[in-house]
Amino acid sequence: MDLDFPQEYVKFRDDVRTWIEANYPASVRAKQNAGETLSKADILSWHKILNAKGWLVPSWPKEYGGTGWPPIARYIFSEELARANTSAPAFGIHMIGPVLYTFGTPEQKARFLPPTLSGDIWWCQGYSEPGAGSDLASLKTRAVRDGDHYIVNGQKTWTTQAHFADWGFFLVRTDPNAKQQEGISFLLIDMKSPGITVRPLITIEGGHEVNEVFLNDVRVPVENRVHEENKGWTAAKFLLAHERSGIAGVARSKRGVERLKSLANLERNGEGASLLDDQDFKRRVAELEIDLAALEYTELRTLAAENAGHGPGPESSLLKVRGTEIGQRLTEMVLEATHHYAAPNFRGFPKEGGNAIPIGPDYANRAAPVYFNMRKTSIFGGSNEIQRNIMAKAVLGL
Ligand SMILES: Cc1cc2nc3c(=O)[nH]c(=O)nc-3n(C[C@H](O)[C@H](O)[C@H](O)COP(=O)(O)OP(=O)(O)OC[C@H]3O[C@@H](n4cnc5c(N)ncnc54)[C@H](O)[C@@H]3O)c2cc1C
Repeated sequence: MDLDFPQEYVKFRDDVRTWIEANYPASVRAKQNAGETLSKADILSWHKILNAKGWLVPSWPKEYGGTGWPPIARYIFSEELARANTSAPAFGIHMIGPVLYTFGTPEQKARFLPPTLSGDIWWCQGYSEPGAGSDLASLKTRAVRDGDHYIVNGQKTWTTQAHFADWGFFLVRTDPNAKQQEGISFLLIDMKSPGITVRPLITIEGGHEVNEVFLNDVRVPVENRVHEENKGWTAAKFLLAHERSGIAGVARSKRGVERLKSLANLERNGEGASLLDDQDFKRRVAELEIDLAALEYTELRTLAAENAGHGPGPESSLLKVRGTEIGQRLTEMVLEATHHYAAPNFRGFPKEGGNAIPIGPDYANRAAPVYFNMRKTSIFGGSNEIQRNIMAKAVLGL
């Protein structure tokens, strides 16, 4: 792939790599590499460094803080971020930011975009409900107009990082009598508003990423509505396309493949044989790399189309499905490569005394938690089955 990059982009890549190496905080890097959960302060520290450099939101229009880089530079940049295993909050950058600069009023842009960039507002996404996930338009959280406010009542679920969030963007029903998609509005809600309760949902590997959010008579100023009343579905769909295109995780998987190969190359028995000597395993690694390369080219094509003003459209569904399948295959193979050493090392167990001293070598620490955590990726951002339905309709015309 690198062979195809023009010389100036090879230099760009080297400059970016050197800069990340020098500026990604060592303490955050150490935690990330050890598979520890990052705190809000950890994640924000890198967010602020990127913002100060002007590199936080390369894909945004320049007037709102984008870099103006062509797709190839943006691609190289995201690849370098993943290569260095960095982490940044996604909801402001990939979701609500693009909605605000596309659908927001001048006042909303001025009020919310600068603090989103500076890290003073951390966002969460209040779309899903206990009875509305794939069938999102059936959502029931109700907003009733009361003068210059809405009174919001209902429940959201799976709300990632709501426990960190200062603000949330919520889909609410403003017209219960209209056809499902036509009675929905898009509200920005201060998470400190009276009547909001955030309750943790602990995931299978022991992590706390997602929450339930209860809204009980929450007063939301009408000026916090994005786009017209009952037209929130338009903004919601636009946001989902942005969410999916970021989900492919090509650069992260490339880093994962390199790690897999180094793990599989460890000596496995007294005779010094490694898993990479196993023809079947070697073939599966090769297949994974080929699929990843194909996905990478598809992502580059999507970026080029976006640059020409088209997109992201149904191809974001394709990127989501293939990207998450590859990511999951990769974590399965890492489990295989770390074999029984992976079993006892669950996030949270040492603190609770289950296995106070992790058993097995350090390289196996993250294998099981990451494997279990990655199961989420074929569900969130719209499940992979739903993405296939979208492709069948939009691409194949079925
Ligand atoms: C870790 C994680 C983080 C998340 N973060 C957020 C967040 O921050 N904000 C937010 O709003 N939501 C979030 N979600 C919610 C996510 O978007 C939903 O889980 C997802 O849309 C699926 O909805 P559901 O869980 O209600 O499953 P359901 O819709 O009940 O689906 C159950 C199963 O049926 C299948 N299915 C349903 N309908 C069809 C169909 N028509 N055709 C074929 N198969 C179908 C699905 O693919 C799935 O396998 C998150 C989810 C997870 C797991």
